Amino acid sequence: MKHPSQKRAFPPNFFFSIPLFLIFAPLAGIFFWAEINSSAAEPLKYNYIKHSFDEIPMKKEATPQAVIFIGPPGSGKGTQAEKLKGYRHISTGDLLREEIKKGSKIGLSCKEIIDKGEMVPDSLISDLIESHFSPHILLDGYPRTLNQARWLDEKVKISQVFSFEVNVDKLVERLTNRRVCPSCKGVYNLVSKPPIKPFTCDQCATPLIQRADDVETVIRNRMRVYQEETAPVIEFYRQKGLLTNLDASQTPDTIADLIHKKIFPSY
Ligand code: AMP
Repeated sequence: MKHPSQKRAFPPNFFFSIPLFLIFAPLAGIFFWAEINSSAAEPLKYNYIKHSFDEIPMKKEATPQAVIFIGPPGSGKGTQAEKLKGYRHISTGDLLREEIKKGSKIGLSCKEIIDKGEMVPDSLISDLIESHFSPHILLDGYPRTLNQARWLDEKVKISQVFSFEVNVDKLVERLTNRRVCPSCKGVYNLVSKPPIKPFTCDQCATPLIQRADDVETVIRNRMRVYQEETAPVIEFYRQKGLLTNLDASQTPDTIADLIHKKIFPSY
């Protein structure tokens, strides 16, 4: 039989561990709650507790916080948008193509314009994107004109603007080899990211298509329109001190890392 002085002081017996648990479990809960509710981690909160951005309520009086990706077609904005979690991705190109698919009034009026690689009128786009606003948005392909940038200034609080810079000939090569899934919107490249089964989406097995505006003549026109209209938008944000230039020829992971560090400096 053990002498009382030989009793083990640690680890504590079962009854002693209950009050310890009762003290530390709420403390851990408070720490976790504070962490995901801090303003820097605000977008991450949706990763922990939400699965669909459509569930996030948009309070009427709230101003959305926006991150903007500006870059010529094929510069990798869409790829980076997929990697950035916590923001609702709004691609004006995708929204417009969706309208065309639905055969809506907007779709009918912009199909020909898009097929030629020209700009769709601002009035057609503003209502469309506003209807997709949520507390944290990532705008891909908007704004592309100074008018759009000024309109957006009234509607959202912009936290960062990234300009994707890449050589035009490389872009033409990238875009002519681009194939997309019309169903799940997956993006492939016949050279650098071919699908496992030729011409078929890896995710949903839908046959891949080439976008009508991904042919060389239209691509060159889109580049010309982009350079003419969007250069002043880049300058607009540079003057506001919001702009980060990105060398878009780097690997997608390197670019994602740069973007992440800029948006979440404390992570
Ligand atoms: P994207 O998929 O971003 O390359 O866009 C495809 C096409 O949609 C563009 O070539 C334009 O015709 C049209 N488009 C997309 N976003 C805008 C915008 N912000 N302003 C005007 N037209 C746009």
